[in-house]
Amino acid sequence: MKITFLGATQTVTGSKFLVSHNHRQILVDCGLYQGYKWLRRRNRQPLPLDIDKLDAIVLTHAHLDHSGYIPVLYKQGYRGPVYCHPATQALCDILLSDSGHLQEEDAGYLAKHRLSKHEKPEPLYDRKTAEHSMQLFRPLDFDQPKEVGDMRFWLQPVGHILGAGSLILECEGKKVGFSGDVGRPDDVFMRPPRPLPALDLLLLESTYGDRRHEPGDPLEQLATLVNDTVAAGGVMLIPSFAVGRAQTLQHLLVRLMDEQRIPKLKVFLDSPMAIEVGEIYERFVDQHRLSRADCHRMGQVITLVRSVEDSKALADEVYPHIIIAGSGMVTGGRILHHMKRLLGDHRTTLLLTGHQAGGTRGAKLLQGCDKVRIHGDWFDNRARVERLHGLSGHADYAELGQWLADSELTASTAIELVHGEPEALEAMRDYLRQTTDFEVNIGEYERILTL
Ligand SMILES: [Zn+2]
Repeated sequence: MKITFLGATQTVTGSKFLVSHNHRQILVDCGLYQGYKWLRRRNRQPLPLDIDKLDAIVLTHAHLDHSGYIPVLYKQGYRGPVYCHPATQALCDILLSDSGHLQEEDAGYLAKHRLSKHEKPEPLYDRKTAEHSMQLFRPLDFDQPKEVGDMRFWLQPVGHILGAGSLILECEGKKVGFSGDVGRPDDVFMRPPRPLPALDLLLLESTYGDRRHEPGDPLEQLATLVNDTVAAGGVMLIPSFAVGRAQTLQHLLVRLMDEQRIPKLKVFLDSPMAIEVGEIYERFVDQHRLSRADCHRMGQVITLVRSVEDSKALADEVYPHIIIAGSGMVTGGRILHHMKRLLGDHRTTLLLTGHQAGGTRGAKLLQGCDKVRIHGDWFDNRARVERLHGLSGHADYAELGQWLADSELTASTAIELVHGEPEALEAMRDYLRQTTDFEVNIGEYERILTL
């Protein structure tokens, strides 16, 4: 069996690993490169892979850096199956279509402002192609084995987001694990990652290989910030990711109200995508920590805002109130319209809730900029800008270490570190070398491992 690293090497995006044995091939994850332009350019370069010889794709979870390249392969003629958890399929249905839409918008923007060297810049793929590629999806429940030639594989739950799994693959007596993105033991929403079985090789994510999550209770911090905003008589704006984070925030706010730690106030979820994702979380209620009653209670308290007219009408709502809207790093979405009218007001709190990648508007706001450029115009920022800690969907290095310790791995397990920035990968390698007997290396692009 051969494993070729085709993505998520020295970076956190573009996950792709090709497993081949006896002329049969499986691609584990099919992710888009995101973030810096030099990385995104790789999405346009041909993959060193013969599509006609690819038998199957398997996804660990729905995030675009693991799934967003599927429409590209579809466009190039791939018509084989895409196996993933049914919840991943449901989430991809929303995420891939949205990704196609954004690709079209980006190409349109480049054309309008003549920013491309091409006469007519083409999107990587459009919404229609993304939607057509969903025909290839085949549900694979946790622990349900599937075979391609002599290779046998299955998914096991790993927390992180709904439907996320680690992939275990065995072939001729050898067993390989692909960690996928590993969740946290005490996540508000998701259950802890399941320990791994004995493996010969593990490809381990290292997003937080050089960091520990800040201690502290997000519920406590959120209560303080909401109460401060209420006392100031302002609006709390929460830019949020649609998958996972928006649902967690709603749940935390409802809990704080029910426990009377914050006053009952209006909370608007102004994101059609997050609303759709919420419905999927409710459909797969046995896959996370929340009960049907919790989900129902969220529906009673939170006001869902779908249409653009209703979103605009939020300008007439009495203060104080809370608006949750996309996007998580303030790079787009409806939150921008609310920021334009509310950032100049010192009573406003802008609460960032996740990692803010370098160069994004979210990162600049965290650094304390007093002017923000939105849709081409500059706006004064007098709002209180804060970051809510403790909601990360990724295990930090100590939590990853504990997960490995709880697993059935032995000293003969080799570990290849992937899905991390270079500093994180090096720190993770050093940490594991110091604290364990595993043979630990950092995965390199296009390297081929033979087992
Ligand atoms: Zn992920």
